[in-house]
Amino acid sequence: MVTSILRPLSMAFQHVFRRTFTVKYPFKVLKPAERYRGRLMLRSIDGCIGCGLCSWVCPTKAILVVQEAERKAPSLDLGRCCMCGLCVEICPSPLALTFTSAYELCEYDKERLIYQPWRLSQPPAEPPREYVRVKDIDEKRLISHGR
Ligand code: SF4
Ligand code: SF4
Repeated sequence: MVTSILRPLSMAFQHVFRRTFTVKYPFKVLKPAERYRGRLMLRSIDGCIGCGLCSWVCPTKAILVVQEAERKAPSLDLGRCCMCGLCVEICPSPLALTFTSAYELCEYDKERLIYQPWRLSQPPAEPPREYVRVKDIDEKRLISHGR
């Protein structure tokens, strides 16, 4: 009985002297890992050869290849995308589809989740604020990431 009261108290007490893990979001945000799969982006509309493989492979039918000016290029329905990465893997052009690290993707209007080719080729806006790496926070808390 006494142990069941003292154990949680002692654990809580230990945390009083540890550095906090949370960051002051949205003024500070965690920097995603290099290979993080955020919102897709077309590196360049001209880099897309309009082959349609991305649309063909997409399991959720989030990509449609549409006519944009005089060429074909993908449009993305972000509401359907599960970030599986198959479209990036299959894309034959190194100048077309890639992931960005953008993860704040909410919209008030469902229509805004549809990215037509030109919008898909724009890098996500990054408001000026401080980016914090999880590794740096852990190092301050004496948690090692080394192998
Ligand atoms: S990441 Fe996956 S779900 Fe999203 S558009 Fe590409 S293939 Fe479709
Ligand atoms: S984004 Fe890649 S896979 Fe999709 S149509 Fe363009 S070149 Fe083909």
